[in-house]
Amino acid sequence: MIKTRFAPSPTGFLHLGGARTALYSWLYAKKNNGKFVLRIEDTDRERSTSEAVDAILDGMRWLGLDWDEGPFYQTDRFDKYNKIIDELIEKGLAYRCYAPKDLLDTIREEQQHKGEKPRYNPKDPRVISANENMDADKPHVVRFKNPSSGYVEFDDVVRGKIKIANDELDDLIIRRTDGSPTYNFTVVVDDIDMNITHVIRGEDHINNTPRQINIYHSLNANPPVFAHCSMILGDDGAKLSKRHGAVSVLQYKENGFLPEALINYLVRLGWSHGDQEIFSKDELIELFDLNGINKSASAFNTTKLLWLNNHYIKTLPLNRIKKELLGLVQDNDFIIIDDLKLDKILSKVRDRANTLLELKGHIRYFYESITQYDEKAAKKHLRPVAKEYLEVFSRKLDELKNDSWNEEAIQEVIDSTCKDLDIGMGKLGMPLRVSLTGQGQSPSVSFIMECLGKEESLNRISNGVN
Ligand code: GLU
Repeated sequence: MIKTRFAPSPTGFLHLGGARTALYSWLYAKKNNGKFVLRIEDTDRERSTSEAVDAILDGMRWLGLDWDEGPFYQTDRFDKYNKIIDELIEKGLAYRCYAPKDLLDTIREEQQHKGEKPRYNPKDPRVISANENMDADKPHVVRFKNPSSGYVEFDDVVRGKIKIANDELDDLIIRRTDGSPTYNFTVVVDDIDMNITHVIRGEDHINNTPRQINIYHSLNANPPVFAHCSMILGDDGAKLSKRHGAVSVLQYKENGFLPEALINYLVRLGWSHGDQEIFSKDELIELFDLNGINKSASAFNTTKLLWLNNHYIKTLPLNRIKKELLGLVQDNDFIIIDDLKLDKILSKVRDRANTLLELKGHIRYFYESITQYDEKAAKKHLRPVAKEYLEVFSRKLDELKNDSWNEEAIQEVIDSTCKDLDIGMGKLGMPLRVSLTGQGQSPSVSFIMECLGKEESLNRISNGVN
């Protein structure tokens, strides 16, 4: 059975790069009727926080990346790792290293001075003597005894064949002085223990892979298939970071993005299927394949994400959009009443919005009286002559009975006013729009007046005039 995993270190929020590898792993498991495991790699106790764990879990839930097993926490598994480390020591595949930090620093400086790559050297006589005749109670780390000759070779699904000489790799610390095991070791133990068949992760781990493969061999296990995904870059070509705006998945939620849009965006950021841009989750499960992952780095493009978000705001069931909208609470919020009017308004305005926040902006004036006019629009459209037109229109509109208050009837009043005044539609329509909405852009003014009702419409027009 295919089994993938997402294994974040909880040292920060769920960022876009992490979310993308989680998505690829999730999709690959779903596509193959496999299982997707969530594992929290919190062995670095100083940098891991429970807030970060919550943010990661919330982000995954919001994106709908549900896990079949876990979350497992590595800090719950220390006994297991330590038992295996002790066994490796017994077998001579790992050893206690007592060389003090200042000695290792001195050796590295000397190497650098000679133009050599600074690294741990177990053959240095000073290291050998530091490690001689020590007892296990003295402060030490445990190092993995990396093979000193030969090669490590693997076939990365994204990057092809990779071959590294063992003498390039030094003896990795697998247990720190404080007794805690380290990432490169725990990741291997867990991936074996959890029967992971495919490891999909960021290319920042590619240098770790040969070391991990040697650890697999020392544990008599076969390494999984590896797929290392390229970095996500900002629009300036630098690695995506906070500097480029929101990089936390939950920030996108707060900014009014739909999970469907972010999923669709992230999947395409580094994976393609012909030139298709829009994918539903079900379609992705069917079409996703590791072979479609691009080798080159992908640049983040906000315009495209906004376009996709607009697509989903326009096309998802109205009730879903309504639910998302009502759940999105902002500081300067207004009260939206969830009734038939809201359905009507949303159907009319949702095409115009790239985010749910924008959508709120487009419905605000239906629920809240105008306290401010867009300066440019007011200057252009609420001029004295326009005010005359509005007055004539108001008088006619006042004659319209409440029981025939609907978009068509209101439109007829607009048409007949323009005819009487011998003016084009825009000359009356634009001043009306600004008076009714405070803005220079909106759906048809007759629709807005129908929704606002007679009294409120006349009030707003009269305020626009004065
Ligand atoms: N915990 C590692 C990280 O967050 C990922 C480990 C892996 O995927 O192998 O970078």
